[in-house]
Amino acid sequence: MNEFDFIRRYLNRAAPDQNVLLGIGDDAALIRPNAGETLCISSDMLLAGRHFFADDRAEDIAHKVLAVNLSDMAAMGGTPRWVLLSAALPDLNPHWLENFCATFFALCQEYGVTLVGGDTTRGPLVFNVTIIGTLPERQALTRARAQIGDDIWVSGSIGLAAAGLQHHLNTRPLPPAVAERCLNALRRPQPRVALGQALLPLANAAMDISDGLAQDLGHILRASQTSAELWADELPTLPELRDIYPSDIYYETLLAGGDDYELLFTAAPRQRGHILQAAQTVGVAVSRIGIITAERCLNILNRDGNPIHLTKQGFDHFD
Ligand code: ADP
Ligand code: MG
Repeated sequence: MNEFDFIRRYLNRAAPDQNVLLGIGDDAALIRPNAGETLCISSDMLLAGRHFFADDRAEDIAHKVLAVNLSDMAAMGGTPRWVLLSAALPDLNPHWLENFCATFFALCQEYGVTLVGGDTTRGPLVFNVTIIGTLPERQALTRARAQIGDDIWVSGSIGLAAAGLQHHLNTRPLPPAVAERCLNALRRPQPRVALGQALLPLANAAMDISDGLAQDLGHILRASQTSAELWADELPTLPELRDIYPSDIYYETLLAGGDDYELLFTAAPRQRGHILQAAQTVGVAVSRIGIITAERCLNILNRDGNPIHLTKQGFDHFD
């Protein structure tokens, strides 16, 4: 099988999409957005050995490659619509590609996105997805509009993926039932697309947590020129982790672990009822974990009101 067989056989199976005038097969795709829509575009690259393990199941890699990009759309409140998939592959293994594509296209279908192009080359296993979504005119969730006095919220549970990674690396093994849940969180992050859309009229600032809650919150604070008080014991997680880990490791896993792909957002206190209602409608839990302040630095407190100091705040590829 050569590159062109691969494209024809495995990739060229996009469902009809009235906005796609020309999809896979030419030099570029042609897309016509509906009148009044703003395009929302983002790209995320995943490397074997850094974002996933080369011997992970093809299905899990496919899920993650697309899910992290869907998560970026969720963080903007956008509706994901089209994706481009660029892949460097060491070889064209039909069985592996079959499994990869089955999951990739199933997730495309679940979220209503169409694969419109990409690139394929031989090389060490690397994937890059470019995702294009739409937003109603003049609406988007950005990082720069957090207001002093806003509640800070987070969706779902955090720390599980980081715990799963520590288990996988055998640095901090977990009991089997806990390990299974944490590994699942690591391998199958659930992009909060519907929640992001529901938050468009409600939240002031938002982002998705990929590199650690504390560090990622820092991005909102810097962009909004505010600070925050964060309540470490209010962070939603798997309760077993608190008993399994020593307390410093527990806090570090939750606050600096990363790979959560949950939404971190801020909103005025008067929106609390609407936010809880919206979260219930889309079936995702949300937790209030702090407030935006006018202080000079991020204050992370435990339930007794004492500060928690982290040795690291999150993940940096160049640290
Ligand atoms: P070019 O040489 O112009 O870059 P290619 O031969 O690389 O074109 O690609 C041919 C067509 O196949 C293009 O429409 C391209 O977008 C699509 N394509 C190539 N690789 C992928 C991929 N991994 N996923 C989706 N579409 C792809
Ligand atoms: Mg090409």
